[in-house]
Amino acid sequence: MLSPFKGSFRVTCERGWRNLFGKREYHKGLDLVGIDDTTVYAVGDGEVSVLYEKDGFGKYVRQTLSDGRRIYYAHLDEIYAQNASSVKVGDPIGKMGATGKVTGVHLHLELRPKGVTKESLDICEYTGIVNKRAQYYYETKNRFSYDDLVEKLMVLGIVTGENMVSWELMLSGRAQIRYEYVRTLLKRCCEKITELEKERKT
Ligand SMILES: [Zn+2]
Repeated sequence: MLSPFKGSFRVTCERGWRNLFGKREYHKGLDLVGIDDTTVYAVGDGEVSVLYEKDGFGKYVRQTLSDGRRIYYAHLDEIYAQNASSVKVGDPIGKMGATGKVTGVHLHLELRPKGVTKESLDICEYTGIVNKRAQYYYETKNRFSYDDLVEKLMVLGIVTGENMVSWELMLSGRAQIRYEYVRTLLKRCCEKITELEKERKT
């Protein structure tokens, strides 16, 4: 699951049809409230734009993914991300708030297709968050333990001879290990091993 909050959070309004301000409307995103932490973190990798919409999203951030889809983080109280900067999964975007057209403090998270459109895509499918009002918990720890990880990386590094730029930092514990980064690294190592095995057979 990709979560904009660390720890516990609550889905306060699902994506879908609802009655709001006296009329029936399609709620294109998901409303979430962070319980343990009010910082909103990125759920995608891509460049961000810091924007403002008085009667709508309030203070908000739009992030464009490499395939052109866009993620909206709306109703923020404060924005931590720099306009036009590149932001990765887990980087802080801002602080949950109640700016724009809202009835209370929450984060409106929405996914839109490529291009200038108000159409929406399924943010639940994208993040893996269940489209149901309830409380959830996001496990922030990596799926591998630190020691596991270091061992795996060392073995793979030795086998493949690959030069890992941040190894020293990682091993000395001075760098935070980003799960996405490690996954990419492991994938690359596995591909290299397959390649080497093929070479050995021929
Ligand atoms: Zn909403």
